[in-house]
Amino acid sequence: MVAYMDHKDLDNRQIGRERAMQIADGVKRVADRIAKAENSAGRKEGSVTLLAATKTRDVGEIMAAIDAGVRRIGENRPQEVTAKAQGLLELCRDRKLALGTEAVDSDSSSAGVGFHLIGQLQSNKINKILPYVDTVESVDGSPLARKLATRALAAGGTMGILLEVNESGEQAKSGCAPDQALDLAYELAAMEGIQLKGLMTVGAHVDDEAIIRSGFAHLRGLRDHIRDSGEPGTDTCTMLSMGMTGDMEYAVAEGSTEVRVGTAIFGPRAFI
Ligand SMILES: *Cc1c(COP(=O)(O)O)cnc(C)c1O
Repeated sequence: MVAYMDHKDLDNRQIGRERAMQIADGVKRVADRIAKAENSAGRKEGSVTLLAATKTRDVGEIMAAIDAGVRRIGENRPQEVTAKAQGLLELCRDRKLALGTEAVDSDSSSAGVGFHLIGQLQSNKINKILPYVDTVESVDGSPLARKLATRALAAGGTMGILLEVNESGEQAKSGCAPDQALDLAYELAAMEGIQLKGLMTVGAHVDDEAIIRSGFAHLRGLRDHIRDSGEPGTDTCTMLSMGMTGDMEYAVAEGSTEVRVGTAIFGPRAFI
């Protein structure tokens, strides 16, 4: 079990007015940053989706972000998904919003909230997330993809996936090596039970804009190559999940279609 989970009730559903307003302000500020970045890059407003990265945040805090307009959330750990799912489902239902697999099944994604997994997934935790999560962004190899596909098929559905690529090559980061990404993507795209929706990366942990942007640009090139390859199942490979609190402007400039933002919405994390 993760240490901070002992210190915080992740299923807490009641937060103070002030905290809710803080979070609403955070969402608004991030939306403004995204709109500005879209503008400077000459991209259409609304072409980048905001995913709220919700690790360590409780149900009440996440609902405040949803009430402020967030329509996609991402958790890092399967344990956090299960700790929060019931509360999130109930409170979304009160607001007539479908969540995660519900939203996908009902085919009403416009009135729904996407529920993604953005952190590492061990195959013995697949069953924990399967009922709730519609997309796993952190698939980094074919063994995990195959297991996800098998379980999703058995459950009668399809799991959306992104292939995570370690563009920076930093040891601490997960994701496949860039030079394996094409072959892996073609293999994953052809599997029944999963749908390859795009690529994901975490930006290089450096201050140098050129280095950060070159990783993002490379991921975009990979996405274009895969999407236009004509290989089976690759036509849905359109998403580029890249950009966080510190580097979302660079990511949007390089073609990101989804930024994953935690700190700029919710403030600094008290744990981890
Ligand atoms: C935590 C996290 C984010 C968000 O990071 P912030 O710097 O808080 O915006 C994005 N992606 C992944 C994979 C994360 O773990």
